[in-house]
Amino acid sequence: MKFLADGMLGKLARWLRMLGQDVTYATQLGDNDLLGLAKAEGRVLLTKDLELYKRAIKRGAEAFYVEGEVETEGLAKVAKRYGVELVVDMDKANCPICNTPLKATRKEQLRDKLEANTYLHYDRFWHCPNCGQVYWQGAHWKQITKTLAEAQSRLKTETFGALKGVGRFTAEDELKAHD
Ligand SMILES: [Zn+2]
Repeated sequence: MKFLADGMLGKLARWLRMLGQDVTYATQLGDNDLLGLAKAEGRVLLTKDLELYKRAIKRGAEAFYVEGEVETEGLAKVAKRYGVELVVDMDKANCPICNTPLKATRKEQLRDKLEANTYLHYDRFWHCPNCGQVYWQGAHWKQITKTLAEAQSRLKTETFGALKGVGRFTAEDELKAHD
């Protein structure tokens, strides 16, 4: 799935890239250009702008209206709609800054780029072949895992609502069986 995030969805764009999705994030484009790009590249337009969402649908572009005030809510909704797994696999992640697939890197090659402590304490590193950013699962990783767990629990709550319906149906079936 390829996405195009509107200018208000920078955070969501970065999350989806880390989750391995191809996301163009356009801060400079007007509405018409966004719609044109979504259609031309077959990207799902992600937007917080209800009017833009409606125009996209009218024009036959695939679009998703991202509701929710907190980032985990929007993330959970997009994940549910498009089957995005809320787990980061660094070997499949895209660079959150520039959307380029990350590459695993031997740490010896990064000796000059890393602080001594980081070099000492971590063994697995990835880098972006386009913008050069280096990534590792450092202290900030706890926060990433926490945010994703939060988004996952939002997903489960929604799924639970659907399952309750199934439960009722089963109970009725059982009653019928006892008739
Ligand atoms: Zn990059």
